[in-house]
Formats: sequence, C-alpha cells, structure tokens
Amino acid sequence: METIVALCKRRGFIFQSSEIYGGLNGFFDYGPLGVELKKNIRDCWWNDMVRRRDDVVGIETSIIMHPKVWQASGHVDGFTDPLVDCKASKQRYRADQLFFSPVVVDGTVVAYVSALESERTTAELQEAAEALKRKRGIQGKLEPVQPRDMTEAKAEEIALIPSPATGEPGSLTPPRAFNMMFETNVGALRDASSVAYLRPETAQGMFVDFKNVVDTGRVKLPFGIAQIGKSFRNEITPRNFIFRSREFEQMEMEYFIHEDADWSKCHQEWIEWCKQWLISVGLPESHLSLYAHPKEKLAFYSKGTVDIMFKYPFGVQELWGIAARGNYDLGQHATASGKPQEIFDEATKKKFVPHVIEPAVGVDRIFLAVLCAGYAEEEVTDEKGNAEKRVVLRLSPRVAPVKVAVLPLLKNKEALTQRAQALYRKLQRRYAVFYDESGAIGRRYRRQDEIGTPWCVTIDFDTVEKDGTFTLRERDSMQQRRISEAELFALSEETVY
Ligand code: ATP
Repeated sequence: METIVALCKRRGFIFQSSEIYGGLNGFFDYGPLGVELKKNIRDCWWNDMVRRRDDVVGIETSIIMHPKVWQASGHVDGFTDPLVDCKASKQRYRADQLFFSPVVVDGTVVAYVSALESERTTAELQEAAEALKRKRGIQGKLEPVQPRDMTEAKAEEIALIPSPATGEPGSLTPPRAFNMMFETNVGALRDASSVAYLRPETAQGMFVDFKNVVDTGRVKLPFGIAQIGKSFRNEITPRNFIFRSREFEQMEMEYFIHEDADWSKCHQEWIEWCKQWLISVGLPESHLSLYAHPKEKLAFYSKGTVDIMFKYPFGVQELWGIAARGNYDLGQHATASGKPQEIFDEATKKKFVPHVIEPAVGVDRIFLAVLCAGYAEEEVTDEKGNAEKRVVLRLSPRVAPVKVAVLPLLKNKEALTQRAQALYRKLQRRYAVFYDESGAIGRRYRRQDEIGTPWCVTIDFDTVEKDGTFTLRERDSMQQRRISEAELFALSEETVY
C-alpha cells in the first residue's frame, strides 16, 4: 500500500485534502491523472449500466434531501456503527474492528489481550498472549486465543480488555451507537427544525423519485434507475487510503421488479453482471470473490446480500454490494409521505409496490482496486543493455488516464514535431492523449509506463519520409511494431469503449 500511496502522490493521482494545513483525515483530492482515471471509471459504468441498456435510466438527485427521507429510510435511527472510546488516550474505535481474547493458562483466564482488525488479527492476539505470559512469568499451558470483537464483549469483560492505544485495561467504554450521517443546517436559522443531512448513500434519491421517473420516463418493469454521486459518512476510523473515507462517490442502481418475479434469479444475474463489469475494467478474476451475508445478520426486510470482494494489499474487502431489498424502501416512503408508490399491473389489474435489487459500488474503491491490481515492478534491460527497474501500471485501456502518448523521436527536427503535433491534435478530439518531446525515448516510455498509458507512438524519419507509419510501443509487452494512423484509430476504437 505504501508504494501505491507514494506513486499516487508522485504522479498526481491522489493528494491528501487540505495538505498544507496538515490534512483532514478521511478526505482526499484527485490530481490531474486521478481525475481522468476516476472519470473513466464513471463513464464506463454509466455507458454500460445506463446508455447501453434498454432497461435502465439515469438520474441525478440532490445531496441534501428533506430530513424526512432519512427518517423514513431508517438512517436517522439506525445508520450507526458501534463506537468504543478509550478514555485515557481519547482514541475512538469501531467496536467491530477491535478484537480481544482472554489469555487462558491451564484453563484459567489470567488476562485479556486486544488487537485491531487486520489480516493478522489472530496471530497478533496470539503473540500478545505469549508475550504477556512470558512477561508475567506465568507457568502452564497457554491455550490458543479465541478472538471476538468488542460488540461481543460481556459487560464484566470490558474493564479487563486493554486499550490498543495504551496497552492497559480499564479505559475502554462499552460500545455505543454512533450515527454516521453528517449534519448541517438549511436556511438562516440554526435550530432543530433546520437540521438536514449530507446523504450517506445515493440510493434514497432513486426511491424518492421513483414515481417521477415512472410517470415521465416511459419505463416498464423490470427497469432500473441509476445514479452516480458523492456520499458522506462520518466514519469512526477512516483507513486504508481511499478505501474507507468520509467523502466518497457511489454508483448505485435500483432495479425494480414485479412482486411475483423470481428475485433470486434476478439477484444472481446482477451479481454476474457486476463481476463481468469489474473484469472489463481490468480487475483480474483471480482477485475477485463472493461473500454471501449470513441470513441471521441481514436486516429483517432483506432477502439476501452478496458482496463482490477484492483482494486488496490490506486484505480481502468489500468492493460491491448487491442487495435484494424487497419492497421495504418504497413501502417506507409511501407510509411516511402518504403518497402511494405503486405500479399498476395490466395483467392482474392490481396495484403493487415493486421489489428491488440494488447493486451499490464505490468509485474510489474501484479506483484503488484498479491501481493495486495494475501495479508491477519489473527488471528490464535498457537500450544500453543495463538492467533497470521498470514501474508499470497495467491499466485497462478503458480506464487508463492517458490512452496514447505521442512522441517525436527528436525535439529539434521540425518535420518530426509537426507530424507528431498533427497526430496529437487529431487523437485529442477523441481521447485523453499526451505529447512529450523531452528526454531520451526510453525515459519517455518509462514515464508513460508508470502512469499506465497503454500505447506510445514514436514519429521518426520513416514516418515523414516514407509511408507515414510510426512505431507503436505497447506498455505491457514493451514490443514495438509499425502501424498506420488508421490502424491506431481502429485499435483504440476496439479497446477504449
Ligand atoms: P462497509 O461495510 O465497507 O462500511 P457498507 O456495506 O456500509 O460498506 P454500502 O452501504 O453497501 O457499504 O455502500 C455501497 C458501496 O459504497 C460499498 O460497497 C463501497 O464500495 C462504497 N463505500 C461505502 N462506504 C464507503 C467509504 N466510507 N469509503 C469509500 N467507499 C465506501
């Protein structure tokens, strides 16, 4: 992760927000290359999800909505994470990310150990238990640790569990519900009546506008409403770079189906669609897996949720959640607003509230996955035959921030630079391209490798004096071949879609 974070900063993908003031935890800025990559992810999703489907339409709803939306949706009462405070250090932890275990020697609990959630949680707890036994000179057989998180701690255990900040017991509080919505005030008055929220998800926009779309959009069941936009969550512990931040961007779609439709089949189809889409933007299938939420942990209205997980450097984590939510959301808004959210079924002449399948994904999490999967360091041989390290981002041409770099072989030969400029301007009408005439050609290739540019084209004397073809150098294979302008456009057309 450190390498990825360093690359992001060095090459202008991502900066910490308000960095000159020390940064603000959980907020990030996207730099010149990052903004292109992010836009490409969004555009691919929008094109595939909305424009290229006949059954999905798009909307864009406001970030601040009527506060009653969030009461009806259950967010005011229930959008909480369990929070544990350390009274000594003033650190705050998400209770479900703070693990502990009794240290059991010869069948007796002698103390407790704690560790924060990571790939090594169990190992860390075991090591801590062994260290504690050694330090206190306790004789006997140490039993393997039994990790539980703080939401599972019994009242009498809490005082005995050491704080990860101080290593000492006695300062952790019992978990309490912490609402993650950011509050603000609308209008000139600041009192209870003016309280509003920054949306913690985009999905409610689709439910609240359901009738508007049905009445105006010429849609017929089954159909989806999609939206891309910012969401805000006051996460207790933002971490893992842009994986969990407090301001992030979501791409969500609500797919409405008949109340009698086979929701399970539809759910499966969307899981498969989402997985294939991730592969189409360059994520290797080997890094993807599915996690079905256990029935007993689902909300009462939920029929099933499956997450597409991605193998990040810090562990296998949720990338895309695909939930079958029944007709809970529309039903809640119908009750709270007094406005029926029904559809008329021509076949049965009955009205009903449609059910919904919801694929919800974060743009930033895809961004990070694409970078992590694409990053590689290789040993290669330079023009002089010396071994050197090559950093390469193997990004799919669909999302790469720069598609083609146009490089005149020499900077001071007008015939070359003019031809290169002409090609550059022509490509620029369709794609994000880059023109670079400074430095040795090998160095220029490396610069492009590091930012994931799939192709470099070099304009040389043969280009201007002979058949107009130029050298195409491929990022991944590093192979070079002659190619015509028409062939270059055909190649981009086929791979950047
Ligand atoms: P998590 O369990 O990781 O907090 P969640 O299950 O609460 O996520 P959802 O409410 O299902 O997430 O949100 C849908 C998607 O939005 C997630 O799959 C993820 O891609 C993205 N997302 C959610 N929270 C964040 C965040 N704090 N930062 C970045 N992306 C997020």
